[in-house]
Amino acid sequence: KGPLLRIDGLSVEFRTGDGVVRAVTDVSLSVNAGEIVAVVGESGSGKTVTAMSVLRLLPDTATVDADAISFRGADLRSLSARELRKIRGGPVGMIFQDPMTALNPVMTVGAQVAEAVLLHQSKPDKRAAWDRAVELLRLVGVPDPAQRVRQYPHEFSGGMRQRAMIAMAIANNPDLIIADEPTTALDVTIQAQVLALLKKAQAETGAATILITHDLGVVAELADRVVVMYAGRVVETAGVGEIFAAPRHPYTKGLLASLPRMDVDVDQLDPIPGNPPNMADPPAGCAFHPRCPLARERCVTERPLLVEIGAGRTTACHFHEELA
Ligand code: SF4
Repeated sequence: KGPLLRIDGLSVEFRTGDGVVRAVTDVSLSVNAGEIVAVVGESGSGKTVTAMSVLRLLPDTATVDADAISFRGADLRSLSARELRKIRGGPVGMIFQDPMTALNPVMTVGAQVAEAVLLHQSKPDKRAAWDRAVELLRLVGVPDPAQRVRQYPHEFSGGMRQRAMIAMAIANNPDLIIADEPTTALDVTIQAQVLALLKKAQAETGAATILITHDLGVVAELADRVVVMYAGRVVETAGVGEIFAAPRHPYTKGLLASLPRMDVDVDQLDPIPGNPPNMADPPAGCAFHPRCPLARERCVTERPLLVEIGAGRTTACHFHEELA
């Protein structure tokens, strides 16, 4: 039995005013049943584009090329738009960063959750779907769900809206949840609550999860395995324990050094110098070289390949052995 989701050799280009920009290059990753895989990187790293290409959620300006994008063994690229709609919100649940734009402002929250249920019922039953919507909102910790189902998204707080999104994502017992920065738009205290809820929802449904985030705190809290992306490519993959204990790519190491910790004052944190590259004109050689403390001549001219350095561990750095 293969992985639940397999992406092989994915590349994505966008047509822009400045010409063609390659956002993702040769990305492969797989997610096993029940597993939480975090895809980590700064904005522009290609992490969201990678996840959105799975269910063809990219704008028309995107060109997607891949050797395989398969879910439960079936190639998603051969599905019609109608077949794909059956998968979205059904076996694959989606949670977006900003529920205000993902929710319909002129429909009550209950109607939207019920619609998510109805869409995937073999014999649509409105009454049962409405009851299920109330039950789902209760499940995700919306207080007084029987009343609040009748409210509109703007009557919900940000945290409550995100709870409603999670309710819709788990409405049809998904095998896979794709969560794109699920807590980024929320206040810190609410973030912790929504994170705890995500963890609970994942444990109860047993759904595998792709967790897209720039926040390593979220990764430590939820993930089993981590895929680190930089400038549109995978630069490191490892189990979550290994990533935190012994990163084998300078970029991952930099991300970890900039993570707030209990034992270090915020002003002693070491953010990675410089900015992510302009993807319209990425650096030659290793794309991380302008920011890398280990960079030398070879890095400027020769792009490091992603190599296996252990079971389930890969890294793309010429000098990864120096980090061991
Ligand atoms: Fe740094 Fe060179 Fe490794 Fe790139 S290949 S991460 S520039 S040491």
